[in-house]
Parts: sequence; structure tokens; C-alpha cells
Amino acid sequence: MTRKVSMFIDGEKVTSQCKEWIPVTDPATQEVICEAPMATTDEVNRAIASAKKAFETWKEVPVTKRARMMLTYQHLLKKHHDEIAEILAEETGKNFEDAKGDVWRGIEVAEHVANMPSLMMGETVENVATNVDTYSIIQPLGVCAGITPFNFPAMIPLWMFPMAVVCGNTFILKPSEQDPNTPMRLAELFYEAGFPKDVLQVIHGGKDQVNQILNHDDIEAISFVGSVPVAEHIYRTGTDNLKRVQAFAGAKNHMVVMPDANKNQVINNIAGAACGAAGQRCMAISVALLVGEAQDWLPEIKDKMAEMKPGHWKSPSSFYGPMISPQAKQKVEAMIGQGVKEGATLLLDGRGLEVDGYPNGNWIGPTLFSDVTTDMDIYNVEIFGPVLCVINVDTMEEALELINNNPYGNGTSIFTSSGAAARKFQHEIKVGQVGINIPIPVPLPFFSFTGWRKSFYGDQHAYGKQAVRFYTETKTITARWFEDDIPHDSAPNATINL
Ligand code: NAD
Repeated sequence: MTRKVSMFIDGEKVTSQCKEWIPVTDPATQEVICEAPMATTDEVNRAIASAKKAFETWKEVPVTKRARMMLTYQHLLKKHHDEIAEILAEETGKNFEDAKGDVWRGIEVAEHVANMPSLMMGETVENVATNVDTYSIIQPLGVCAGITPFNFPAMIPLWMFPMAVVCGNTFILKPSEQDPNTPMRLAELFYEAGFPKDVLQVIHGGKDQVNQILNHDDIEAISFVGSVPVAEHIYRTGTDNLKRVQAFAGAKNHMVVMPDANKNQVINNIAGAACGAAGQRCMAISVALLVGEAQDWLPEIKDKMAEMKPGHWKSPSSFYGPMISPQAKQKVEAMIGQGVKEGATLLLDGRGLEVDGYPNGNWIGPTLFSDVTTDMDIYNVEIFGPVLCVINVDTMEEALELINNNPYGNGTSIFTSSGAAARKFQHEIKVGQVGINIPIPVPLPFFSFTGWRKSFYGDQHAYGKQAVRFYTETKTITARWFEDDIPHDSAPNATINL
């Protein structure tokens, strides 16, 4: 019988009573690994009620103690790093090195969260008026929820629940139904680290379960990462229900290649950033803007991309894995067909690729289009596959204008050896994360993940100081301690002056 994925509700590992189960498949073979439940309304309500109750005691646990548990958790994640990466590789198809990277980038967040006492420090000004002091304290919100995508099943849940819980909140995690085993293992280790089981509840599901979270009165804040239409829905519904929402969405990331860049660095980095993880990264490079003489490098970019063979995660020669599902593969193939129809030049065609021994895998080979124009769908739609669109431009100013006119603003990079060009680029570009000779500039957790424009809806971003702000409320206290009383007949102070 197919294994059924459990949930963690009210401190217990439970099997859902739901009628609908979604098969979780190995994307390299289509074999069913297990089935994920679509939690019932009652199960979601029970999880939220339990998290609400748990908040009352959890928020009183000293922050030093919460942080120390996070140190233990970080240690456990490191100890089980390869084991988690295997679970992750099996259900996502990511090659093993990349799967380990997914886990590691999450561990880095846990490491940062262990520093919570410093992150939660308030501010004080003594003598704001005579003998009056003002200080701020930072307090948790209550029950927070996280809804995560399939493409980083370790890193993205770890962006959310460690930060929220160590701030003193309790948390409902609703991971992607396409790869629920990795987050379940993360939760098991979390409890093993000493966190009470009811401070983190894990439920599974899709649209209906998410809508229940969005409409539940006891959820204070929602963190979401996923596609643009869902992010817009989450942000609109969540804020309409007067909740705090941060929603990270899709992207179209451009790399600008200046003719003074180190040519072989460009070629290697562009191929890796376009095809790594089969292009299923929100920070993947999907557009290359070749400036002036850098346009001559196109044949070598093509040759390097052609070397990037997908394969099974266990195969050391595989550069990247399959698409997550047959539907995702069909969507990418349809977009490649669309690019041909629109008149772009298809230099590498990844459709119809076969991988020895894995005839049923969702494979797409490296795909390269040149002569792409900004009115084409392949330029405007997030393809989320190993597809690179090349556009030639004459100057960096032209590249800047083009990127700034694109609705997305997640990541971008410039390859150049000119400090002046890089400085102008970083200053004028309207994108939240900029790489200078770095193709995928995902910041480490002491900064925040700062997508802009259509790639992010909300105010405070993920991890770093901004996430502490997102998961807490600031209380400002103005205090005076009287040394002496005043005479009985003193006039009352009717002003607001201190
Ligand atoms: P998705 O939007 O399909 O799903 C994300 C989550 O939302 C899942 O948990 C899913 O169950 C839920 N969901 C799906 N449809 C829903 C609906 N109609 N109503 C409510 N909830 C729904 O995204 P995905 O395919 O899992 O992930 C890929 C997308 O995520 C890409 O667009 C990628 O760019 C984006 N992404 C963005 C970032 C970022 O930081 N900006 C990071 C990773 C992935």
C-alpha cells in the first residue's frame, strides 16, 4: 500500500481523515513515493486552535531559551544534512549537490535565528523629557502561517518557521503538496531539538486549505512564496482580512554582460544560472542581455549550455534534474513552441530529450533562444525551465531601461570589470537583489531576501532584520518615576507635552 504522509497537529503525528490524497511522484521515474493529504476543515481548525493555545505559554519562554533550542536544531540539521538532502532529491529530482545546497541555505537561516536575543533588542532614549525615559520592546504576534512552493522544500520553510517561532510566535506550515517529505523531516528534527510540538503544526493541502488559513480569524500573519497569481490572491485576501502578509512571487531575472567582463566567467556562470535546478529557481537567470561586442560570445554560450546534461539525482554526471511534474514539463515545452512561433531563433531545443534508463522522467534539455524581443511571451512569462532568452543591446543604458520596464524585480546581475559601470547599474536598477559578477545573488540571512515590484507583495521581506519586524509588534513605553509628590492644589497639565 502506498505510504500516506502524516501531519503534525496538536503535538501529535496524525494521519488525515480526508478523502482526497495527492500522489507525490519521483519526477525522474513517475513512481509514486507516497500520498499527501488534503487536510479536512476540522484538521486545519484543530491545528490553528492548538497553535493559539500554545502561544499563551510559548511567548513566556525566555528568548535565550528559545534561541538555545535553535542552536540544538541547527546542530541536528547539520548532523542530518545529507539524509535530508536525499529525501529532498528523491521528491524534487534535484541533483545531489544542489539538494545539499537547498538544505544548507536553510541551515544558515537557523544559524542566524540562534542570535535572536540581539535581533529582538528594542531601543531606549533616556530623558526624552525631564526624568522621562522612552523605550521600545518587541513582542510576538500570535499564530503565524507559512505557505511554501515546491522548488526549495528545505530552504523556504526554514526562511519562515525558525524565525517566527524563536520570535515567540506559534506557526502553521502548509508546505507544497508536491514535495511534503522534506518539510516533515525538518519538523521532526525541530521537535527533537526540544521545541514543544504544538508551537509548530504542519498541515498539508492546496487551495482550499490555504483559503481556510487566509480566512481564519486566529491567524495574525502569513508568509507566502510561490507563483504570481497565487501571491496576488494571498496578499489581497490576507490583507483584506486585516492580516499581515508577505508574499514572494515569480520572476524574470536578467544578466547584463558587458564586453569588458571576463569572458569565460560569463560563459560558465550564465549556463549554470540558466540551467541549474532545471531553471526552477525564482532567481534563475532567464534573460541574457549581451552588450556590444559581448554579442560575439553567443556561440560559446551555446556550446557551454549544450554540455549541461540533465539526469538522475544519483548520477554524478547530471548537471540538473527533471521538471517537477509532467504538467510543468508540458508548460515549458509549450513555451518553447511559442517562442518559435513568435519568431525567436531556437539555437538549442530541449524538447523531446531522453535520459538513458529514465524514459519517463520530466526531462527538458538546455534551451537557448536568440533574437528575442520584449513583446514576445517567452520574454514576458516566467517559463521556470532551463530556457535562456538572449537579447542584444548596444549600451548598458539600454539594458537598464529594458530591465526597469520589465514588471518583475527579484534578481539581476551585471558581469563587468568596470567599477563605474557596476556602480551605475546597482544605483539605477529597479530590482531588489543585484549581483556584481555573481549570477544568483541570494543574500545570506543576516541580510534579507528583498524582491521588488511584481516579485514581492508586502513591506517586510524574508529573514534578517526585516523578518524579525514582520513576525513581531513593537511596543513603545514612556515612563516616569516620581521622587516626590506635588502640592495638592497644583494645576493639572492639560497639554500633551511631557
Ligand atoms: P504555486 O504558486 O503553484 O504554489 C505555492 C503554494 O501555494 C503551494 O503550497 C500550493 O499548495 C499553494 N497554492 C497553489 N495554488 C493555490 C491557489 N489557487 N490558492 C491558494 N494556494 C495555492 O508555486 P510553485 O509552483 O509551488 O512554485 C514555483 C513558483 O514559486 C515560481 O513562480 C517561482 O518563481 C516562485 N518562487 C518565488 C520565490 C521568491 O522568493 N520570490 C522563491 C521560490 C519560488
